Amino acid sequence: MDCIVGIDLGTTNSAVAFVEAGIPGILAAADGSRLMPSIVHYAASGAVCVGEEARRSQVLHPADTIYSVKRLMGRASAELDATDRDWPFAIADHEGKAAVLAGGKRRLPEEVSSEVLKALKLRAEAALGFAVSRAVITVPAYFNNAQREATKRAGQLAGWNVERVLNEPTAAALAYGLGRLQERSRVAVFDLGGGTFDLSILELREGMFEVLATHGDTRLGGDDIDRAVGDWIAAQVRVAGGPAQLDLTMAARVRMAAEAAKVALSAATETEITLPFLTAQFSFQRVLTRAELERIARPIIERTRGHCRQALSDAGVAAHELDQVILVGGQTRMPLVRRWVGEWFGCREYEELRGNLSMNDAERKGPALNTSQHPDEAVALGAAIQGAILSGAIGQVLLLDVTPLSLGVETFGGLMNVLIPRNTTIPTKAGELFTNAVDAQREMLVHVLQGERERAKDNWSLGRFALAFDAVPRGAARVGVQFEIDADGILHVLARDTKTGHEQRVKIESAVDVDDTKVQQMVEESVTNAFADWDARRWVESALRAREAVTAARQALAEMEAELPVETRDLVAQAIALAEAVLAAERDGMGDLPLLQQKIKQLDEATAPLADALMQRAMDELLRRRGVLS
Ligand code: AMP
Repeated sequence: MDCIVGIDLGTTNSAVAFVEAGIPGILAAADGSRLMPSIVHYAASGAVCVGEEARRSQVLHPADTIYSVKRLMGRASAELDATDRDWPFAIADHEGKAAVLAGGKRRLPEEVSSEVLKALKLRAEAALGFAVSRAVITVPAYFNNAQREATKRAGQLAGWNVERVLNEPTAAALAYGLGRLQERSRVAVFDLGGGTFDLSILELREGMFEVLATHGDTRLGGDDIDRAVGDWIAAQVRVAGGPAQLDLTMAARVRMAAEAAKVALSAATETEITLPFLTAQFSFQRVLTRAELERIARPIIERTRGHCRQALSDAGVAAHELDQVILVGGQTRMPLVRRWVGEWFGCREYEELRGNLSMNDAERKGPALNTSQHPDEAVALGAAIQGAILSGAIGQVLLLDVTPLSLGVETFGGLMNVLIPRNTTIPTKAGELFTNAVDAQREMLVHVLQGERERAKDNWSLGRFALAFDAVPRGAARVGVQFEIDADGILHVLARDTKTGHEQRVKIESAVDVDDTKVQQMVEESVTNAFADWDARRWVESALRAREAVTAARQALAEMEAELPVETRDLVAQAIALAEAVLAAERDGMGDLPLLQQKIKQLDEATAPLADALMQRAMDELLRRRGVLS
């Protein structure tokens, strides 16, 4: 078979993926595991084990179990500083190149990595059922030539033909389907893995991603959080009367418990840490909450800030000019990381958190925080997509799928409010904030519509549901409605009361896959009825305005009765009656628009002295309070 697989050769974990029938997927091990720890154990017997098995050896044989070797890949011994040498295994020199000592032998990083790549080859062949030898392997965007060459050699040592060495952020962008964005779109790839962090800014040019800038820290990642949590556990162990100093084995157990707790707290809000028989006499048990974890982890996550700022500045791009921010690396599964990124980049989804509740969607300028892919699988999937493009299994130009008709919701007065216009490329997402039309309204009806007509009733109804919210005065509720069409063309509708957090979600399957002749008919009808529709919308909007003006005039009249000359009162009352008469003549949602507009104008004129009087009264009141008037 002439296929090309994609490999993410990570610092902490690696994965292999393949595009089958146009769909990229991770090739899992027989036991279902999708990621392979990038760990190699060299036993004294000469046997080599890789992945999960090697990870388990770490506790017993720390000196012969190599992890994070990617940090040494293609580097000269002279380049290494003290922190590069701080491992449980020995660092050696091999003709000026950095190497490790394990299983009694000196080994270059590419030799160690080739063991992982061999294991991935076996995994891929077992999953596919045939032999494969061609691969795309990914590297960080900041890898220099020597590091890229070393990675390529690792692949060759494992028996792979390395077809391309691909930048990780580019692979991630491919996996997120960002090749479908508009030309010159810019995206940020925030990659926080186990041991490294980088932020890359990419720009799409002629269907290819160009890395505009990348900045990061090769010693910042999930491991630092594990270490900080481990220190916290060690302190708690001491408080509970356990050993004051941990030996190597105990320390390894603590580190594993710390990582397990951290991972558990991405889904749960608290978790129990247990270390039975840490010593013969001492077992440890303690609950860790997500809030405590976030307090420990926040300073570490904050360390990404300077790199984000630098990468943006190097690329000459401001955060709000980005189209999307995508998350890569297992550590970005942590809710705190997502929140931090969303807020720092001013992502649309986080505007509300910054108090911009009143903004409507058009005013939201920030990039979208795209979390639609598994962050720890995206790089391998993207490499597989690149492999499929190289082998010709999929075309270079991905077919653009678009929405055949506009999608929206019904708003005041029975009008269609479009959220996603016709011909928008999918996947896509859009949202808007709505408010309540009447006082003490207890629920909002969300009526999902599809079509090109101005009035709700002329469009197709795709579904309706009600969202309950607390009774508040008219105009005070804030209900966010979000439409998301995924790559499969399924419309996900989410309505959320931003005050209480109550939400409702519905899934509508029929939004994109619509019969062509029906689409044609809908579009033709919208053209034929364009003028009538336009008038209908203007009527509804004017009638709404007129009703509001009538209510306000009535209120003001009641309040100011005693202070107004009779002629003014009569004039206002008459203008109210005339406007109401035109409104009452409405038939089938339509009335005499020019007449109504004339009556609104008259009402405005008649109430002008009333507004002045109200203003005067407020002014007097203020001066009185300040003691200027008695
Ligand atoms: P990577 O290098 O991309 O494989 O990322 C590995 C890092 O992600 C490790 O530090 C893991 O502990 C961390 N990680 C994986 N899954 C989660 C999770 N669900 N929540 C928090 N961290 C995670």
